[in-house]
Amino acid sequence: MASKVRLFVDHPLGEGQSVPLSREQAHYLFGVMRLGEGAVLSLINGADGEWDAQVVKAGKKGGVLLCSVQTKPLQMPPDLWLLFAPIRKERTAFVVEKAVEMGVSRICPVQTDFTQSANRIRPDKLQAHAVEAAEQCGGTFVPPVDELAKLDRVFADWPEGRQLMFCDEVLIGDPVGLPDIQGPWAILVGPEGGFSPAERDRLRGLPFSHAVSLGPRILRADTAVVAALTVWQQALGDWA
Ligand code: SAM
Repeated sequence: MASKVRLFVDHPLGEGQSVPLSREQAHYLFGVMRLGEGAVLSLINGADGEWDAQVVKAGKKGGVLLCSVQTKPLQMPPDLWLLFAPIRKERTAFVVEKAVEMGVSRICPVQTDFTQSANRIRPDKLQAHAVEAAEQCGGTFVPPVDELAKLDRVFADWPEGRQLMFCDEVLIGDPVGLPDIQGPWAILVGPEGGFSPAERDRLRGLPFSHAVSLGPRILRADTAVVAALTVWQQALGDWA
């Protein structure tokens, strides 16, 4: 049986709730996915869980859906932030997509000493990638994607109690060494050029920072994000 179309809507969801569709959403549902009146699809909005909704009005310029039953409650990922230095555009989109699938609560692009200035980011486009990833992977929560921020700025008002998994490429070949500390965490992965020595010293000096290895080989930044998320989720997250 073909899986139900899943659509993110920026609208409250609940029993008997009618949801108006934008032109783009109507085009996607009725033009691309060929749904018609009476069809049932799944809706998420990142807050109210997943709901069945029936097409009650289908048109070229819009339409209306009517929510019936909740099929999944809101399932929050662990309280895990991903801090990563933007890389080439399509790889940055990959990082955002994998972070949503693998479970993070917030995505924070950070400017580090060696982040290539050409690696500009469009937070709105990255947020759209996060929405698409949640629609595709069955998620009910969509992590917010922040504006690009300087690394030191992010640590200036760091929340009390949040630990940092600092993926430090100079530890290559060491055992991973992730400490078994429950609670809120963040993962930090550097850019193509890695971390500068001055940055590494500052990061090592932070009381909440734990430098870890991601194995015996240098990973590309996007590979390192997937590896770090896997290590953390399996040890401390909702995969354990
Ligand atoms: N200059 C190399 C390069 O361009 O491939 C190293 C940088 S690496 C791509 C980017 C980031 O991935 C590093 O800053 C680090 O956060 C992470 N990383 C890659 N391999 C790692 C390893 N074996 N141990 C820890 N972190 C690693």
